[in-house]
Amino acid sequence: MSSVSLSSQLDKVQLQRYLALPQGGLCLVTYVWIDHTGERLCCKNRTLDCEPGSIEDIPEWNFGCPIHQPEGYKGDMYLIPVRMFRDPFTRDPNKLVLCEVLNCYREPAEQNTRFTCNKAMEAAQHFQPWFGMEQEYVLQGMDGHPYSWPQGGFPGPQGPYFCGVGAGRSFGRDIVDSHYKACVYAGVKIFGTNAECMPSQWEFQVGTCEGIEMPDHLWMARFLLHRVCEDFGVIANLDPKPVQGDWSGSGCHTNFSTEAMREEGGMKFIEDAIEKLEKRHAHHIRCYDMHGGEDNKRRLTGAHETASIDQFSAGTANRGASIRIPRRVDKDGRGYFEDRRPAANCDPYVVTEAIIRTCLLGEIDSD
Ligand code: ADP
Ligand code: MN
Ligand code: MN
Ligand code: MN
Repeated sequence: MSSVSLSSQLDKVQLQRYLALPQGGLCLVTYVWIDHTGERLCCKNRTLDCEPGSIEDIPEWNFGCPIHQPEGYKGDMYLIPVRMFRDPFTRDPNKLVLCEVLNCYREPAEQNTRFTCNKAMEAAQHFQPWFGMEQEYVLQGMDGHPYSWPQGGFPGPQGPYFCGVGAGRSFGRDIVDSHYKACVYAGVKIFGTNAECMPSQWEFQVGTCEGIEMPDHLWMARFLLHRVCEDFGVIANLDPKPVQGDWSGSGCHTNFSTEAMREEGGMKFIEDAIEKLEKRHAHHIRCYDMHGGEDNKRRLTGAHETASIDQFSAGTANRGASIRIPRRVDKDGRGYFEDRRPAANCDPYVVTEAIIRTCLLGEIDSD
């Protein structure tokens, strides 16, 4: 099997001819949602008569899912538009719209983790909670190997690849730069990008965002990543430990602060939050990957700048701890902290909700 997809090798000059056709006053809207796995993204398109001015102008829609229907289930699932972005693929005036999924009784569908996250965000609004999330991922060829790795073999050991420049140290930068520009065009709050420790492993950060904006923007950034990768014929793998052995896993470090933490004397509030997080370590581990902690087990080993999964730790400038206080923050006595436990395949709605409920809403373990 070739390492890039056949579709990516279709004639792009032909595509450009059609994309350049005028579309009158019409607006093409791509509805984006998370499917029943809670992990995969789906989309479909719809033509509107004119450009929507805001999210309220975008009609609800639905989809009928021929498989994966709950028992005794009748009818369609509803798509409720929640956040609008510009479409970097077909460009202005066209839109991408992130949707929540409701079932036929108009209740949040099982995969709809946004609903309760949003409730927590509303309850904690007065704290002005800010987040920044660092999404790591590995580019993977269609043959299932990390992109550009020697067939059936391994590249040289880790060391020269982190923030690497040059053909022997950096693999797939076209994709990273394309995704970066696509995010900026779309209006996704992308903070930056960098090459990671393992060859063909990369990171982008989304933030700083307030409240529910954080997970919404990260999900749209993931959609753009998968969509850009599709054009290049490779796959973005968000597994927390795609290659066993002496190779770094992929995380989704979550940086967090409240207004009080950011102000003079904020360290007291940072320490208070860390104390609460320590008491609920097991709960957070369950919330921090797609399968209740099972995926993260392979990543949080204590090696490769991680802490062990069953032991909570915190420290200044310590990348081997569960929670890290950046050196600068320690020096200033205020700012934010970084939760290093979330895995690359986490659901950012679940992660941010857990942090808000534990640190700000005073929730403690019931089990
Ligand atoms: P690292 O040094 O861990 O690799 P990065 O530079 O990759 O950190 O990411 C830092 C993240 O922290 C960014 O997403 C940024 O938005 C976020 N951030 C910065 N300041 C704050 C803050 N006060 N509150 C929450 N997040 C913040
Ligand atoms: Mn980072
Ligand atoms: Mn990183
Ligand atoms: Mn980090």
